[in-house]
Amino acid sequence: MRIVLVGPPGAGKGTQAAFLAKNLAIPHIATGDLFRANMSQGTDLGRKAKEYMSAGQLVPDEITIGMAKDRMAQPDAANGFLLDGFPRNIAQAQALDAYLDETGRQLDAVLDLEVPEDEVVRRIAGRRICRNDSSHVFHVEYKAPATEGVCDVCGGELYQREDDREETVRKRLEVYHSETEPIIDHYKAQGLVTTISALGAVEEVTERAMNALKRD
Ligand SMILES: [Zn+2]
Repeated sequence: MRIVLVGPPGAGKGTQAAFLAKNLAIPHIATGDLFRANMSQGTDLGRKAKEYMSAGQLVPDEITIGMAKDRMAQPDAANGFLLDGFPRNIAQAQALDAYLDETGRQLDAVLDLEVPEDEVVRRIAGRRICRNDSSHVFHVEYKAPATEGVCDVCGGELYQREDDREETVRKRLEVYHSETEPIIDHYKAQGLVTTISALGAVEEVTERAMNALKRD
């Protein structure tokens, strides 16, 4: 199966992508991983991406598209893949369509994870991270530490990351609405979109997604 997973920040997209890819036995192709791999291997695309990033500039679509194409051309992706974070705008979606056409392949489904905006803000803005170890993660509502501001695991100080502040989250949501959401309409026109609720436990969402894929 060839699947694109879309959803706003805070929808738990990365977690769902990992579970779904495992259940479906297809590679999970995440944009973040592509960038890290290309940069650590020093590929041409990785070096170019690094130049833009060190200059504090956005990486142009062609570079992201190039990395995604290289990855989709790997043998383990011959029978399917799950794309996570790509395409993230119309230009990338059109490039993906063209690439799949050229290689005689088609998408099977676009899974749209839906979360109410206030819930996204609550999920992200409530996160608190331990200064000693960033894997010690708490949440003021959903996973409160025994003592406010103190890590249950190591006693370290808990803080809110800059990226997790409400204003930042609202800004990321705006970007999602204006740049990424249009790809949902793009794929709706191709009859590929299935929308599922991303509320509830991780396993519940995975089950919903698997059922939606089976129906297709
Ligand atoms: Zn800690």
